[in-house]
Amino acid sequence: MAYPYRHPSEVQLLSKHFGEPEARTLQGWVERGGYQALRKALGMSPADIVTEVKNSGLRGRGGAGFPTGMKWSFMPKKEPGKPHFLVCNADESEPGTFKDRELMRWTPHALIEGCLIGAHAIHAEHAYIYIRGEFFEAAQIMARAIEEAYAAGYIGRNIFGSGIDLDLTLHIGAGAYICGEETGLLNSLEGRRGEPRVKPPFPAIAGAFRYPTAVNNVESLIAAAQVVLNGAEWYKQYGTEKSVGTKLFCVSGHVKRPGNYEMPLGFNFKEFIYDVCGGTPTGKPVKAVIPGGSSVPILKADELDIGMDYESMAAAGTMLGCGSVIVMDEGVNVVKQVRRMVDFYAHESCGQCTPCREGTAWSSKILRRIEMGRGAPEDLDTLLQISDNMSGKTICVLSDAAAAPIVSSIQKFRDDYLALMQAGQLAGAGVR
Ligand code: NAD
Ligand code: SF4
Repeated sequence: MAYPYRHPSEVQLLSKHFGEPEARTLQGWVERGGYQALRKALGMSPADIVTEVKNSGLRGRGGAGFPTGMKWSFMPKKEPGKPHFLVCNADESEPGTFKDRELMRWTPHALIEGCLIGAHAIHAEHAYIYIRGEFFEAAQIMARAIEEAYAAGYIGRNIFGSGIDLDLTLHIGAGAYICGEETGLLNSLEGRRGEPRVKPPFPAIAGAFRYPTAVNNVESLIAAAQVVLNGAEWYKQYGTEKSVGTKLFCVSGHVKRPGNYEMPLGFNFKEFIYDVCGGTPTGKPVKAVIPGGSSVPILKADELDIGMDYESMAAAGTMLGCGSVIVMDEGVNVVKQVRRMVDFYAHESCGQCTPCREGTAWSSKILRRIEMGRGAPEDLDTLLQISDNMSGKTICVLSDAAAAPIVSSIQKFRDDYLALMQAGQLAGAGVR
């Protein structure tokens, strides 16, 4: 299958140039209309850029869906001698997520443009891209593109004769999931341990080096550049009234055509899985789908007839998150998948909060015991109790994220737990 596979239902605003190596070069990017958005933005006032992005309804694509223009409007008035910073969160680490990696691999100059436009909008003179440590290839491509853009005067002093100075630094992380949490990321950027900070204060007030900072996801910044170039009304033709625009969805697991798909928000989820992604390769029916990264509640096969947008997912009791879709067919015991995810969170917990540090570790041990056939029905009550203690009580949402799949799997796939317990009894796994 040629890369990338394209489906006619896709709307490629951001992913149009995936698969074109020439688009990675400055010349190739300019030939494709690149840097027009930056030229336009540098001729606009920061306030006008913020208004345009606000009017577009663009929401953050990292997972929380917070309105991008509103986030920028939270930045305080610029005071002399007090720098502002824009930080691009490119530490994409949510299990199942690989959209930002592809955006950077194929269209690095689009991200440079997005960062510079965002920096100008919030009166920052310096932007950082904090990239996940394991993204070796994407980091190399980004570094080359930044070097090229500096050499051509597209980054640096007096860009395009506008009188505006903007710098951009690529910072490579050291491979910790928690550094994708914005305040953990800021600590890491400053050379401290990547431990989340208590919010408030939000980064808009005390961010990088304790100065006002906007932290934006890769996809959000690239989409914002398109909004600036084409206008808020143009962007609003895609998606739904409240979930505007397109979104990259990363699909993995039991589908015939895994990969990245750029869909208008609101597209039917069932049609997406069965038609766009081709359904299961095994021919077995779909059993469960994690719709928005591993930290959101799981959906059953009969819950998929909903829109791929923030509101419809919330109404179904889950979240759109960062748009990573993990599909499991009837051959999967959901407990095994949940145990793997909880192991991941236990490993990545920074350990500051007791409910997270202890809760993830206990849950992992109990799930492992159940998986080995040594569980008992009362373990499910214990798991639910631990999950309750892990939710809404910690510095960051890693703890809630670990609890969400445990709770939804017990609620919706209880039979999978009981099947492992019964199989264990039959096999005489007994001793607990
Ligand atoms: P959040 O809702 O706390 O915040 C969202 C953003 O809005 C932040 O930038 C925050 O600073 C800002 N904000 C919120 N209220 C504010 C206020 N009153 N004043 C100023 N700014 C304000 O969510 P979060 O903890 O940043 O992110 C959680 C999400 O991240 C999860 O939903 C998960 O889906 C996602 N996630 C994504 C990845 C990935 O790899 N893409 C990894 C882990 C988690
Ligand atoms: Fe660290 Fe977990 Fe607390 Fe987040 S919830 S700060 S990862 S211990």
